[in-house]
Amino acid sequence: MRHTAIRLCFREPIPEIAEAARLLDDAVSAHLSGDVKAAEQLLLEANMPVIRAWLDSIWGANSPYVQYRVVPNAHPVIPNEGRIKVRMPSAEEKQRLHQRDGFHCRFCGMPVIRKEIRQRIAKAYPDALQWGRQNITQHAAFQSMWAQYDHIVPHARGGTNDLNNVVVTCAACNFGRMNYLLEEVGLSDPRLREPIRSSWDGLERFRAIPLRKPTRGKDQASVVGRDGIEINSFLYEVVEKEDTEEMRAAHRRWLIKIGLSEEEAKRVS
Ligand SMILES: [Zn+2]
Repeated sequence: MRHTAIRLCFREPIPEIAEAARLLDDAVSAHLSGDVKAAEQLLLEANMPVIRAWLDSIWGANSPYVQYRVVPNAHPVIPNEGRIKVRMPSAEEKQRLHQRDGFHCRFCGMPVIRKEIRQRIAKAYPDALQWGRQNITQHAAFQSMWAQYDHIVPHARGGTNDLNNVVVTCAACNFGRMNYLLEEVGLSDPRLREPIRSSWDGLERFRAIPLRKPTRGKDQASVVGRDGIEINSFLYEVVEKEDTEEMRAAHRRWLIKIGLSEEEAKRVS
């Protein structure tokens, strides 16, 4: 009988991903120091075709890295009506997950970036950080580092929204597994390992664009409100849309919490 080895992840991240993370981190530092040209250039450099190929090899159809095996007595797929209602963690739960897991994938260790941060950078650098509807039009590094909140026992297999059942992951590890149980794809349980702690902050220190004030248009106000609440509840401890000293102080506390020195936090916030 052939056994499939138990692995930490489907396929190890390639070195170019670490290189791209360094370029993105430098891009945000350049941006915060006011060097928009350098920031733009670094963002473009991080968009490497080899990273897209790596991601496609895992989440694409018929991936050689994702192989299913039958596990006796595994939970069957539950019909929609039998599943637990709330699917994704709330903004506050996501905050707790990042406090616990940091900004690395719990399976493969890849640095991750929240969608909200990506959207803010894309707003400031629409030419360098493209994010169209189709995969091919999306910035490859942001795509592979896209933070996910993955159910260990998949929702479709009866998994709950309890935070013990949810981990921060990258796109490949989340979408590659689909609705399979860990045992079915030969992955070890990432909860048995400590989360990675590093100076990678998920580019959270980027906050270039003050949120626009709500205008009279109803739709615009709700978009701004949603964005404001989500961003603020995650980073700032206060619900505010203006860039106040209070927010900057909260932001500095956050940066220190994720590993920056007091000096560094002062410089960027
Ligand atoms: Zn991963």
